[in-house]
Amino acid sequence: MNEVAELFDGWARSGRAEGMERGHAPAARMALDRLGLRDSSTFLDIGCGNGYVVRWAASAAPLGRAVGIDLSGEMIARARILSTGCPNAEFAAGSFPEIDPPGAPYDAIFSMEVFYYLPDLGAALRRVRELLRPGGSFACVVDYYAENAESHSWPSELGVPMKLLDAAGWADAFRRGGLTVIDQRRLRVRPEEATAAWKAYEGSLMTLGCR
Ligand code: SAH
Repeated sequence: MNEVAELFDGWARSGRAEGMERGHAPAARMALDRLGLRDSSTFLDIGCGNGYVVRWAASAAPLGRAVGIDLSGEMIARARILSTGCPNAEFAAGSFPEIDPPGAPYDAIFSMEVFYYLPDLGAALRRVRELLRPGGSFACVVDYYAENAESHSWPSELGVPMKLLDAAGWADAFRRGGLTVIDQRRLRVRPEEATAAWKAYEGSLMTLGCR
């Protein structure tokens, strides 16, 4: 099995999906707000973990469809258990970009802390473009990026390959994937909400693109 899938299956089994949810939620909320979901929007979260953002999107778009996909079968199992009260949330296990997610095309695609794991970033961003409705948008948030020096030790700590790009590199990759970059910014959380000090002073890097 793929080493990234194995890592996150283990995290899902030991409760770390909910730990990530606590750490990522403040920045994820700011990014989701930028996607402007309406009642009937269709939404995809790539690398959804325990599915917390899919549940937010499902309640923001009660007449729409909110889909979460993840490489880790254990994460998808957690997400399904936690989403039983959410009829318009659905999940599928598989590797992006090879997986064919249900419900395309989407008005909005979201991804938090995932895209640097993808071995072929160019292919992934081209696939995001294909899955978006014309005018739809994609918010990609990463904490592992060149300007955040605190994150540089993560690949050796986690023991899996991760791609280190700076903000300009992410914007460039979006453009090469055929997406128009409409905003890029650091999402900084209030110091009292920050589960690590860098979340307040460096923040998460969000690149927002549209088709
Ligand atoms: N977005 C969640 C989880 C982030 S952890 C959150 O904010 O907490 C990264 C997630 O990406 C893991 O659940 C991992 O299994 C998933 N992932 C990594 N590579 C992937 C791929 N190629 N396709 C789909 N999911 C992937």
